[in-house]
Amino acid sequence: MRVKVDPDLCEANGFCESIAADIFELGDEDVVQIADGPVPPGREIDVRAAVEQCPRAALRIVD
Ligand code: SF4
Repeated sequence: MRVKVDPDLCEANGFCESIAADIFELGDEDVVQIADGPVPPGREIDVRAAVEQCPRAALRIVD
C-alpha cells in the first residue's frame, strides 16, 4: 500500500501529520511530504484514517 498527495489540493494544515507523523511531514513545504516507499503494514490503519479525514481530500491510497 502506498499513499500519495495531490499538491493542488493539500493546504498543509498538518492534520495527517498529527495522525501519523512518521509517514506525513510538513517541514517548510507548502504541501505535505510523504515517506518514501510502501506504508509499513503496522501503519496502514492510521494512514487510512488520515486519508479519510483529510479535510481537503488531498490524499489517496494507490496500489
Ligand atoms: S490533512 Fe490533507 S490538507 Fe492537511 S496536510 Fe495532510 S494532505 Fe494536506
